Amino acid sequence: MNARPRVVVTRRLPPKVEAALAERFDVERSKDDRPLGAGGLQRAMERADGLLATLGDRITAEVLSANPRRTRIIANFGAGTDHIDLEAAQAYGITVTNTPDSLTGDTADLTIALILATLRRSGEGERELRAGRWGGWRPTHLLGRRATGLTLGVIGLGRIGLAVCQRAAQGFEMRVLGTSRTRPDEAVLAAAGVEWRETVEGVLSESDVVSLHVPGTPETLGMLNARRIALMKPGSVLINTARGGVVDTDAIVAAMHSGHLAGVGLDVYPDEPVIDPRLLGLERAVLLPHLGSATREAREAMGMCAIENLAAHFAGEEPPNRVA
Ligand code: NAP
Repeated sequence: MNARPRVVVTRRLPPKVEAALAERFDVERSKDDRPLGAGGLQRAMERADGLLATLGDRITAEVLSANPRRTRIIANFGAGTDHIDLEAAQAYGITVTNTPDSLTGDTADLTIALILATLRRSGEGERELRAGRWGGWRPTHLLGRRATGLTLGVIGLGRIGLAVCQRAAQGFEMRVLGTSRTRPDEAVLAAAGVEWRETVEGVLSESDVVSLHVPGTPETLGMLNARRIALMKPGSVLINTARGGVVDTDAIVAAMHSGHLAGVGLDVYPDEPVIDPRLLGLERAVLLPHLGSATREAREAMGMCAIENLAAHFAGEEPPNRVA
């Protein structure tokens, strides 16, 4: 009988997922639940047939150039693969997969939570209460904005972007506008309750809330820069649950200080887990530690999806979620 494929897992996973992995593969579990670093990744790829990696594992062209290298598949735990050099992986004949659908609804839910928290100033309220500064109910205390009737602009109409549109349109009766690289079918736009706009600028100028759902790519890096933020409506709010690099932090800080933006809700940052201290000083910012897919249900489904990709690869079949 052939030996079972050896899989190095770079981080601890939900118990159900670790058990399912151990049933199928010869698994090397993460010892300290921290990213492996370049040297650790290269050593892992010397001995493993497959790598189950995730955000924080910077799998660069240099890491992939490891020689000798036994690894032929990197099953990423997560939808975003901006931490992996996909072109280099392809050039080295390494298959890369991701886990897209299992986290869509939960990430969309967290986006809605951030939209509401930012509009309704929940962060400020909680900080005030915990600090013992709450003086009691009063008619003018911490007034926010009603989501219903506001216009939401979504940039990136993929899985998560469309799920956000649908929730906002159907759940909160927001008017929803959207744009993307590729225009989805009319039926898809209608089902999500979204009006198409040809350009990012067209979305920005009409929206009270702008939410970003593009992947982190060289093309989207700094996509929301000072010029584009200036096109947003005065008093509008910006939500980012995509990737930190999509927004220019200097531009956010300047627009918050000038009052051009009334609020910002962020789940992702350019250099996670390092947070620009200027963001921490913004009272009207709601800042979450990358919790988009952080439900037990999503994380278990993501793990099972990564296992399916590994199993298909080792069976000589096309993995269902191949991205390189
Ligand atoms: P997806 O289905 O691939 O959707 C991405 C959408 O962005 C696609 O419609 C794509 O257009 C569009 N797009 C790509 N480049 C663009 C550009 N330059 N300008 C305008 N639109 C562009 O991915 P998803 O599952 O919705 O996930 C989106 C991103 O969310 C992930 O890549 C990840 O970075 C992030 N994410 C964050 C969390 C979190 O915890 N906060 C969780 C999951 C995912 P095409 O159809 O033309 O490709």
